Amino acid sequence: SDRVFGGLRKTSERLSENLSGIVSKTRLDEGQLDDLEDALILSDLGPRAAARIRNRLASERFERGADELAIKEAVASEIAAILRPVAKPIDVVAFPRPQVILVIGVNGSGKTTTIAKLAHLFQEQDYSVMLAAGDTFRAAAIDQLGIWAERIGVPIVFGDEGGDPASVVFDAVQAATEEGTDALIVDTAGRLQNKRELMDELAKIRRVLGRLNPEAPHDVVLVLDATNGQNALQQIEIFKEVAGVTGLIMTKLDGTARGGVLVAAAEQYGLPIHAIGVGEKMEDLRPFDPDLVARVIA
Ligand code: GDP
Repeated sequence: SDRVFGGLRKTSERLSENLSGIVSKTRLDEGQLDDLEDALILSDLGPRAAARIRNRLASERFERGADELAIKEAVASEIAAILRPVAKPIDVVAFPRPQVILVIGVNGSGKTTTIAKLAHLFQEQDYSVMLAAGDTFRAAAIDQLGIWAERIGVPIVFGDEGGDPASVVFDAVQAATEEGTDALIVDTAGRLQNKRELMDELAKIRRVLGRLNPEAPHDVVLVLDATNGQNALQQIEIFKEVAGVTGLIMTKLDGTARGGVLVAAAEQYGLPIHAIGVGEKMEDLRPFDPDLVARVIA
């Protein structure tokens, strides 16, 4: 019978442990959840991701008087869950070569710099790279890309200022095919002021590419400036319409970064996020690490 009582005593100890767990843990109250949701929206996560995180945290139990750190950890874990499914590096896999990567985005978003960063990254991975200066509208864009090409040591195909971007792309694909180049990265105009024109221009580039290789473009990468906050989301909407988008690269996440918009983009569009820009140099492209980004944002 000692054994029986011993067993019961253990049971009772365990029960009281579990009961004390119940009284010492609590849910966040509505006021706290409202504040949390507001804070997430103010951090550019957007209403959908904010509501989703609020709902997840509403069903979680925290130690009574949970400190900021515990709540931040829970938020980070929810953000990571939103970001993980969209983290996808850009891989050079196309066969036959070249893999054609169209890079789109508004002027000033960091498009030219991102092209240089991608070219550098692919070179580091031992792929051969060629650039095409498809933004013939701005002489400065052609010059700038030429300077990068020289610095990185990759060939570049360009046309005249004001020339037909589609013909530059045509020449570039031919040259890259002849050379057996692995990746052809194509710069494009970013004039959203004239949406119709831009749409026609990108459609024509696509037609020309499609005639040379039905698979091309293999990637249509939209470059977004994180400091634009919610405007970046609007740009996804517009570029999806004018060009189709297969993936995103978010720039300027160094400095006064507003990385919350990455979460909003992931939640609303589910487009792959290939990488992030964290500076002005060609080495300043980072793989998109959802857990790291989540910890930094939360
Ligand atoms: P484009 O007009 O879209 O081709 O933009 P650029 O590539 O010329 O970039 C515009 C400005 O943003 C330049 O001064 C770049 O050096 C800067 N820039 C681009 N990417 C980043 C980044 O990730 N971080 C920072 N801090 N600056 C960047």
